[in-house]
Amino acid sequence: MNVKVLKPYGFCAGVEYVIKTLDKAVNDNNGKQVYCIGDLVHNDEVINFVKSKGVKVISGNKEEAIDSIDFGVVVFSAHGTSDKIIQKAIDKGLVVYDAACPFVKKELLDIKKYIEKDYDVLFIGVPGHDEANAVLSISSKIHLIARLSDVEQININNKKIVVINQTTLSTDELHYIHFAIKKRFPYAVFEDEICNSSRIRQKMLLSEANDYDLVIVVGDKHSNNTQTLFKMAKEKYCNAINISSKEQLHTFDLHKTQNVLILSGASVMKEKVEEIIKFLKNL
Ligand code: SF4
Repeated sequence: MNVKVLKPYGFCAGVEYVIKTLDKAVNDNNGKQVYCIGDLVHNDEVINFVKSKGVKVISGNKEEAIDSIDFGVVVFSAHGTSDKIIQKAIDKGLVVYDAACPFVKKELLDIKKYIEKDYDVLFIGVPGHDEANAVLSISSKIHLIARLSDVEQININNKKIVVINQTTLSTDELHYIHFAIKKRFPYAVFEDEICNSSRIRQKMLLSEANDYDLVIVVGDKHSNNTQTLFKMAKEKYCNAINISSKEQLHTFDLHKTQNVLILSGASVMKEKVEEIIKFLKNL
């Protein structure tokens, strides 16, 4: 079987940073219980690795998680957390590490700067995602655009409008939504916040010129950057599948498959992708 893997694959710089931050939290606070608030990244293997270090992972509502902890160290997840919740943890005397990806931190900072200058923010993002929740907690002047049709529903009486987006969106989809916003609000200012990892992986997929019997997108179904890649792969190649481990390949009939393209989300271990490549090459 011919197998091509799109580069880069393995962890992005943001995920590396999150894991380093967690290591530091464990090493610098010997003996204290370390809690991860929210899934550190959207990848079960990384979460299991984190748990193997004795870290307790509390998913779900972050504020309730902080309410339930009276002592110890808390590490906030890669996707960003509201200032109010971080402050609550500090006020409780917990040792706090914010492991938000530097791209997410920059986005939150940019939004705050525009809010201070009296802008309304149109935030293009995924409802319910931690990153979108962190953004929306900043101000009531932030309006979530989840899909193209939302652009028509927005009512703002302010000539100062900035358009900012979640870091892991599709460059293509963003382009269409920007176009619609430009038509409705020609005076709007645009800030493109797609992170380097998402941008490069999407670009590599879009510029791929060959045909394949099968396209495999490796990554978690809760990972937005993976799901963006998967959606783009399905649009380009109708025979795209999303798996998170080699074992899931057993459910597919691969006997007639000869040419395979593999790409991976940003929170998938390099070794995991290489396991899949090895498995396919040995078929
Ligand atoms: S995918 Fe992008 S936003 Fe998410 S952790 Fe990696 S670099 Fe940061």
